[in-house]
Formats: sequence, C-alpha cells, structure tokens
Amino acid sequence: MKTVTILGATGSVGTSTLDLIEREPERFRVLALTANCDVPKLAAAAIRTRAELAVVADETCLPALREALHGTNIRAAAGKQAIDDTAAMGADWTMAAIVGCAGLRPVMAAIERGGTVVLANKEPLVAAGDIILAAAKRSGATLLPADSEHNAIFQCLDATRPDRVRRIILTGSGGPFRDWPIERMRSVTVAQAVAHPNWSMGAKISVDSATMMNKGLELIEAARLFAVESNRIEIVVHRQSVIHSMVDYIDGSMLAQLGPSDMRVPIAHTLAWPDRMATPMQPLDLVALGRLDFEAPDPVRFPALRLAREALDAGGARPAILNAANEVAVAAFLSGRIGFLEIAAIVGDTLACYDPPAPDTLDAVLAIDAEARALAAERVRATTTASVEDRVV
Ligand code: NDP
Repeated sequence: MKTVTILGATGSVGTSTLDLIEREPERFRVLALTANCDVPKLAAAAIRTRAELAVVADETCLPALREALHGTNIRAAAGKQAIDDTAAMGADWTMAAIVGCAGLRPVMAAIERGGTVVLANKEPLVAAGDIILAAAKRSGATLLPADSEHNAIFQCLDATRPDRVRRIILTGSGGPFRDWPIERMRSVTVAQAVAHPNWSMGAKISVDSATMMNKGLELIEAARLFAVESNRIEIVVHRQSVIHSMVDYIDGSMLAQLGPSDMRVPIAHTLAWPDRMATPMQPLDLVALGRLDFEAPDPVRFPALRLAREALDAGGARPAILNAANEVAVAAFLSGRIGFLEIAAIVGDTLACYDPPAPDTLDAVLAIDAEARALAAERVRATTTASVEDRVV
C-alpha cells in the first residue's frame, strides 16, 4: 500500500488526485491533506479517506477545522510551518498542488525528506529550479511531473539518450482569447478569462492560460526538468488539447502523448508509475475528433511568452521575478483592479526595474520573490490610481 499526502487537496488538481485515490482504497492510504482555508472541503475529504492529519495554512481557520473533525480521530493543525512539517512526514507519494510560490517551502520539505514528489505546482520550479533539483539529487527523491505537458514529455523522452533529442514541442490550447483581436482583449472580464475552452482548472492557472504566461512558465519548467536549452523547446498552439506535448528525435521520429483534457490522466500516470492504472476516462475517439490543428503562437497579443523566454535565457533571478510579478498581477486582475492586458505589462515593468544577483539559497529566492511582489504591487497601485484619474477626467 502506498502512503499519500496531498498538498493543496481542496484545489482542482487536489480534487482530481483524491478522485483517483478514492477509487482504489486498497492501493493507497492517505497520510495527510492540506488546504489554505477551505475547511468544509478539506474536512469532508479527510473523513472520506480516513486521513491521519488535516492541515490549513491559515491559522484563523483552525477552530473551524477542529469543529468539523470533532468526533473523528483525524488530527488537525494549522500554519505555514505545519504545512512544511506535513510535507516532510515521509509519505511514499506526495502531490504538490498548492498554487503559486506559497508551495515552495512545502515542495522543498517534501523533496528533502525523499520519496516520490509529484509536481503540479510549477511556480516553485520556475522560481527556484536549480535549488529544488539539487535538493532532489541530495535526498534521492523521485520527481515526477503532473503538469500534462511535462508528463507527456516524460512519457516520450528517452532520458538515457538526451543527445538524440532534437526538440521538445510544448503544445498549448492558446486559451480562450487565441482568436480575439487585441482591441477586444483590452476589455476581457474575469469570467471570460477563467473560462478555459478545454480544461477545468483553478483561477490562477486559468488566467495564466489566457495570457499564455502558463506556457511561458511551462517553458521554464521543461528546461529545468529535462535539462534542455531554451532554443530546443518550441511552443505550438494546438487548439484541441489532445496532444499534450512531443519529443522530436534526430532521426526524424516525433513521439507524442495523446489523451483527454483531464488532469486525472497525467496524475494517474504519476500515481502508478512505473506501472499503469485504470482511470474512468473514455478512450479517445480519433474518428469523432477528425482533425488536429497546429499554429504558431502570436507574440504580439501574448507578450508573456517573450518575457518568459527572456527570463529563462537570462537565468539567475529573472524567472523568480517573472513569476512573483505575475502572481501579483493575476491576483490584481482577478480582484478587478487591473485590466487583462496590464498583467503582462506589469510583469515586464517589474523585470525592467529589478535585477538582483542570482540567488543560490532558498532564502535568497524568497527574498527576491518578496521584493518583486512589492514592486509589482506598487505598479498595480499606480495603474489603479491612473485609471481612477482617467475616469474622473
Ligand atoms: P487551485 O486554486 O484550484 O487550488 C490551490 C490549492 O492550494 C487549494 O487547495 C488551496 O487551498 C491551496 N492553497 C492556496 N493558497 C495556499 C497557501 N498560501 N498555502 C497553502 N495552501 C494554499 O489550483 P490548481 O489545482 O488549479 O493548481 C495548483 C497548482 O497546480 C498550480 O501551481 C497550477 O499551476 C498547477 N497545475 C494545475 C493544473 C490544473 O488543471 N488545475 C494543471 C497543471 C498544473 P484552499 O482551497 O483552502 O484555498
């Protein structure tokens, strides 16, 4: 029996992971589940799976969690340190599905403890890739990618012969605005931005998909995970989201992984790896599907792609700044403070005004992350003030 911990159990990836685990209770035993503060969902999942421990990051939510777990023998805990301690409990298999850089310390704690750590949470890899990979090397932890693109690459890549790989081709749906003219993109609403055409996901990654920053973050994630230079990773818009990515070999063979647009497929791959397990997904009906389309992404309407590639190429602190500024800008967009096109503009401005030396420790990454957030928040305030003044004029 595999022991399992899910960090971010109440989110979209967490829910998909629970769905698979609960279908095979004889195969998986839940050690711990964590959330920020969604107590009803966390407590219900902990009770259903007979978890040993349920943890909320937000300490003000602990009384509600204790009350919801009253009468069970599930322990409750709260706070950032409790999340880190939970990550380090030593589960055989840990799903890292907290959103954003809030997952960085827990991911490191899980990796330092060893076992299998499954990365859905891409932001820590973007901000602190080298540090995370070095920690995995030291502890012997196995890192498996749950992000569908990286999981596809992992399935297609012959890691024993990296010199035989010509290119990695990252596919992306292009998001809900792939066909919109830029004038129309200025007035995108939150509801439009989070309505992804193919995938059902949390709000932050849905907005990232709409700006295509998600593909930029994935570019950096792929370069880190598979040790491939940026100029050998190509991004292709594939609107059906059936091919999840491809590996192109020097002999002209191109291997692709296909599957339904449902995170349970890549998560199942990591749960059973190196074996396979059944999922409730229907097999792809290629005849009904009929066609697969591919096109180049538009760098003008989606400047986040350029910003991410430049950050990857420059290295050092640049990816951490890109990620932090993006998190702040996306949160500002989601709360209605800035427009959709301002997200990438704020990321670009933050990168332009802050250029610290490369971080070599986790604390240095977190300090850069904090400073970049402060600068981006300042830029958000300036944008908000300017638009209020425009309205008054
Ligand atoms: P969601 O927003 O749906 O869920 C986020 C989870 O993290 C929730 O459990 C939330 O708890 C918890 N959380 C939020 N803030 C904190 C915090 N400060 N401390 C601890 N826990 C916190 O996100 P997704 O599931 O969509 O995405 C999770 C990660 O996986 C992201 O990095 C995303 O990029 C990546 N990913 C997601 C995919 C998807 O299909 N959704 C696909 C590939 C990658 P609460 O519910 O209490 O707020």
